[in-house]
Amino acid sequence: MFCVECGAEGPTYQGLCARDFLKKHPVVAPPEVLDLDRCTSCGSFRLASGWSKIDRELALAGLLRESIPKLPPWERVTFTHVARDEDANNLSLTVKALGRFEALQSVQDFRVRVRIKPTLCDSCQKQRSRYFEGVLQVRGDGRELTPQEVRGVRTFVLARVDRSGDSGAFVSRIEDVHGGLDFYLSTNALGKTLAREVSESFGGSVSSSPKLFGQKEGREVYRVTSLVRLGAFHIGDVVRHKGALAEVTSVRPFVVLRDLATGEARRFKPKDVRTARRVEAERFEAKIERLEGGEVVAIHPDSDEARPVRPRPEDRTVRAVVVWTPDGAYLSRLPPEPSKA
Ligand SMILES: [Zn+2]
Ligand SMILES: [Zn+2]
Repeated sequence: MFCVECGAEGPTYQGLCARDFLKKHPVVAPPEVLDLDRCTSCGSFRLASGWSKIDRELALAGLLRESIPKLPPWERVTFTHVARDEDANNLSLTVKALGRFEALQSVQDFRVRVRIKPTLCDSCQKQRSRYFEGVLQVRGDGRELTPQEVRGVRTFVLARVDRSGDSGAFVSRIEDVHGGLDFYLSTNALGKTLAREVSESFGGSVSSSPKLFGQKEGREVYRVTSLVRLGAFHIGDVVRHKGALAEVTSVRPFVVLRDLATGEARRFKPKDVRTARRVEAERFEAKIERLEGGEVVAIHPDSDEARPVRPRPEDRTVRAVVVWTPDGAYLSRLPPEPSKA
């Protein structure tokens, strides 16, 4: 027998001498990066067979075995590796892949980066979704939450819990209830903290009610439901209150309504403005012009429509933020709304 490549006499493998065979056939085609899921709660690793509670070295060996296939015609390949931590979630692996074909062996050296992906395994996920102590309820005060509030509150709560960095603080589940949201939380303290933060950010009142739900190690265990009621109005809303048109300039601790016609601001307890009704209005910066008859008008930036402005702007004003309603244009104390485009 002789090698078809170099002509050397001796044993051949698929027509090649050992040297040419090894040169022609790499054992594996290693990737640059491999990802490995790790449960942040119990430390399990996810392999193709599922989640398993094994140590990291075993998990890395399994990962190499199942994600780096041997190249033909190698019949069997085994890996050995040395891992070096680059940081908490990145490892550099120096790997030897040993391939076997008939009587031949070949060793291929390579490096691969392993990214540990923190996540939750199925059973920890399930355990968490059943477990809760505290409940946070978010509702509107005498109204349903708007879709924007539902989205905003949900994002706010999840971000807060995420950023707390406390692995014992988690949201078991979120339920959309008619007109509001319920958050089931790992601890009562978390519910209370979130209730305060939601009310501070969105404007609302907080109450809480503990309910005895059992005993743990001879201690009474309570589930605390914290309820946030978001105020009826937001800063910037235009409302009709007792016949007058007003803009809302503050929602807590008091609701401040600034009368648009007179410019006078008054503060109310939230329950005293329940009868106020929201009015469709735009708020933008407009050009102010003086007509020949002495009337002062604001010009709508899109339609060029002119409407008298109340109260009368100071003499030299050429631009001003106005509230534009079907009744007319009014000087505002608030910044213009961000463009809706
Ligand atoms: Zn040869
Ligand atoms: Zn787990």
